[in-house]
Amino acid sequence: MIAGNWKMNASISSTGEWLAAMADTAVAGRDVLVCPPFPYLGQFQEAVAAGRLLLGAQNCALEESGAFTGEVSAAMVRDLGCEYVILGHSERRALFGETDELVLAKMRRALACGLKVILCVGETLEQRQSGAAESVVAAQLQLALEQLSDDDWCQLVVAYEPVWAIGTGETATPEQAQSMHAFIRGQLAARSEQIAEQTRVLYGGSVNSATAAELFSQQDIDGGLVGGASLDAEHFLKICTA
Ligand code: PEP
Repeated sequence: MIAGNWKMNASISSTGEWLAAMADTAVAGRDVLVCPPFPYLGQFQEAVAAGRLLLGAQNCALEESGAFTGEVSAAMVRDLGCEYVILGHSERRALFGETDELVLAKMRRALACGLKVILCVGETLEQRQSGAAESVVAAQLQLALEQLSDDDWCQLVVAYEPVWAIGTGETATPEQAQSMHAFIRGQLAARSEQIAEQTRVLYGGSVNSATAAELFSQQDIDGGLVGGASLDAEHFLKICTA
């Protein structure tokens, strides 16, 4: 799976151009997912209906519906054709104070609405330098591992995104990424071998067309979550076929 996270970028016209550039290109054998900002989700309906792309949202509300001004519910993004939602992204954790408890509650809401979830985990530079990277990632996985059912886990993708690599141009080396992915696989296996085998674990953090192939060829890396480089359709396609 290659997933593009556009963050708070794009416009109606740039989204149209991106879709036009992707239109004749089928990427065989991979799930290509794009997560644009909420206002542009509707522009993807044709591409989704034609099976060219999967669509995801970058967030959803905790609550089901009602007086929550400015929020967008899981049911709404499902209604717009989203199959996935990204939850626990480090920007949501750092800038909007999202805790593991809140992320778990949003996961439950999303799953109840029929969405699949990309659960993001990853350590900061300080945490890596102090040797705490694995314990931080284990803690971010813990609630989902303890509290979600095997059926729920069938609907989950994990994305390992070291915070120090997001938007910095500094990709983790394939060895660093593989080592953490193997650790994550081990955490999943401690809950269930089947979950460890079936769950896709994506790498994210400054992936580009030059680094993608080597990262994606690592044993425990099942694809990528791509931020900045997914905004350019040509660049994104190169990553998708890497
Ligand atoms: C992201 O935000 O999920 C991400 C991986 O960003 P970038 O590729 O720009 O580092």
